[in-house]
Amino acid sequence: MGKFTFKGGVHPEYNKITSDVPIESLPLPKELYVPVLQHLGRPAKVVVKRGEAVKRGQIIAEADGFISANIHSPTSGKVKKIWPVLHPVTGINVDAIVIEPDGEDEWVEGVEEDKNYRDISPKDIVERVKNAGIVGLGGATFPTHVKLSPPPDKPIDTVIINGAECEPYLTADDRIMQERAHDIVEGAFLIKKALSAKKVIIAIEDNKPKAISKVEEAIKGENWIDIAVTETKYPEGGEKQLIWAILKREVPSGGLPMDVGALVQNVGTTVAIYEAVRYRKPLTERVLTLSGDLPKKKGNYLVRLGTLFKDVLELAGGLKKDQYRVIMGGPMMGIAQHSLEVPVIKGTSGILVFSKENTHYQEPYPCIRCARCVDVCPMNLMPLYFVDLIKAKRFEDAKKIGLLDCIECGSCAYICPSHIRHVQLIKYGKQELRRLKK
Ligand code: SF4
Ligand code: SF4
Repeated sequence: MGKFTFKGGVHPEYNKITSDVPIESLPLPKELYVPVLQHLGRPAKVVVKRGEAVKRGQIIAEADGFISANIHSPTSGKVKKIWPVLHPVTGINVDAIVIEPDGEDEWVEGVEEDKNYRDISPKDIVERVKNAGIVGLGGATFPTHVKLSPPPDKPIDTVIINGAECEPYLTADDRIMQERAHDIVEGAFLIKKALSAKKVIIAIEDNKPKAISKVEEAIKGENWIDIAVTETKYPEGGEKQLIWAILKREVPSGGLPMDVGALVQNVGTTVAIYEAVRYRKPLTERVLTLSGDLPKKKGNYLVRLGTLFKDVLELAGGLKKDQYRVIMGGPMMGIAQHSLEVPVIKGTSGILVFSKENTHYQEPYPCIRCARCVDVCPMNLMPLYFVDLIKAKRFEDAKKIGLLDCIECGSCAYICPSHIRHVQLIKYGKQELRRLKK
């Protein structure tokens, strides 16, 4: 297969400075703050009490309904308290189960290998994924068992495994592909089986030659899986952009990938699916990239869910000086953090820490109607008009020209010579539409 791409997009400085740093397990902190909300959908319901002893992988909060996900204890120890913690996505307090590790890190009963895991039914694959509390680890955090259960009138023929990782700085997925290519292929096989799909394609940007060669090696001799090398361009890893780039199918406005017979799954999620099905292993940890100009030991770390950012920084060797700006995720779509007392959750793909000298803030100027934002928008939208309409509080008019189709990629803001912060306004506009609908 050749190189694939989509219309629009931008070329930020990629700064993938940790792509050659192997994944390292971060030691356990003294306390873990495990929030009941680490996914899209309803928060999970706490099922443990203060003082209770727990094992690693034990359910401590149960999914509340179909669009929700189980939460498991990240290690063995004691429930110290149920306590509010600042959520890194919503920025408001949410209940967290505080676990004091006992140092044994003992798994709950039942986490063991099923040697015949390839032979289990599609229904059982989905059930094991659901029990393991797996959600989209690329950052979207949509519960994976829901994604693996499309309605009968929306059959999936092609699965795309997303190894694009187009956000600058982030290299966790790159390392997962370099170090666990065979597990990705096994996970892909299980996803294909769960969906009765015909074909799997692993998509990787061409700035990851080592990952490409490891994956090429891992799929040798398999005729159901292929690799698609995509052009390095942001936001190549967007679901709709990948589906268009590789399959030339356009997800309709307001629609989902399943409307065009496709499903996109991140590489880290694919490995988590493999571990859930083969070893019945719940999701208790994830790989994240620690980068920016301030961490003394930048790298890719396997971190227990519930570890506070301040503990990640300390256990990974500390900072060169006090931070000015901290971002969860990448610099394009990530979320600025105002405290380090926030926990790593299932969607934490990276923690970036910058000094003031490396934080570029410029005052916005009036729009000069250059249309550069229109040229780069991967959704063929007109971001300059969103700005005008939202500022005028004409939210319904913004909706008519596609506000809800915006994927909040930030390409428009990145390219804008007037430094207009489109995404802030777009998020505000969407929020107002939701509020008015209520
Ligand atoms: S309008 Fe939305 S989708 Fe288009 S470039 Fe801006 S943020 Fe991205
Ligand atoms: S890129 Fe900025 S200045 Fe140019 S049209 Fe868009 S909003 Fe206006």
